[in-house]
Amino acid sequence: MRQRTIKKAVELVGIGLHKGVPVKMRLEPLESNSGIRFYRRDKNRYIQLCPQNVIDTKMATVIGEKDVLVSTIEHLMSAVYSYGIDNLLIVLDNDEVPIMDGSAIAFCMLLNEAQTLEQEAPKRILKIKREVKVTQGEKFVALKPYEGLQFDFTIQFSHPVIGKEKFNFEFTKEGFLQEIARARTFGFLHEVQYLRSQGLALGGSLENAIVLDDKKILNPEGLRYEDEFVRHKILDAIGDLSLLGMAIMGRYEAFAGSHHLNHLLTLELLKSKDAFEVIEAPAQYSQRFNIGAIKTA
Ligand SMILES: [Zn+2]
Repeated sequence: MRQRTIKKAVELVGIGLHKGVPVKMRLEPLESNSGIRFYRRDKNRYIQLCPQNVIDTKMATVIGEKDVLVSTIEHLMSAVYSYGIDNLLIVLDNDEVPIMDGSAIAFCMLLNEAQTLEQEAPKRILKIKREVKVTQGEKFVALKPYEGLQFDFTIQFSHPVIGKEKFNFEFTKEGFLQEIARARTFGFLHEVQYLRSQGLALGGSLENAIVLDDKKILNPEGLRYEDEFVRHKILDAIGDLSLLGMAIMGRYEAFAGSHHLNHLLTLELLKSKDAFEVIEAPAQYSQRFNIGAIKTA
């Protein structure tokens, strides 16, 4: 099992969720052991993807510093993780990743076009050895030992359309594409109205989110999966855990998890040196345990 980058540079243009302006994003290969790195072309500054560089998790996962940041990275990172990509340069000419349709599918299509390339260095795997858990009231997120990679998410909203949803996802790249990647982000109309009044979510629309009022879904096309909300929470969790910078071997469990709790979980895990080990896996490891991308022809 070796590290991966992409074979060729690819790019797309999309609207940023918060400013509502077009953002150009270009993906370029990077050499082994580089990790995932953002480059703000307009500021000539690099930001390395790692938990320590997270500066905000209120509405999206944001990395960087106060004056040079990249917002809403989680859907892109979820796709990048699922394709088993370890080394990648992400060039942006503004401070947010394009929102596209609010899911990860556009990024998957872009990675299909770029194709992955195996590199010389062995892939590193973060193997969970004991449970690490972060709780906030009745909410929690946790990582537990598991021979593979699994996500078990439960959400509970007092809303007639959402209510309680639970989804268990045994990670594979193919499973991600079929069951998770198309699940869109969601928000409530009163939140959207508040954000707009604060000059945020200016690019938000029914084209890039499921929007609900007090009773129903406002999108005329309805849902893509009947439990699209909880599937999107798993999409977010994969993206947020990818900041650990390695393939993960373990089971993630969450009740009402959030970007904030996911971020605290990565920090707590890295602090708990006895809770994990980093291993370099033999070639067949990813296929056997489904923790990184399965090799596709
Ligand atoms: Zn999301």
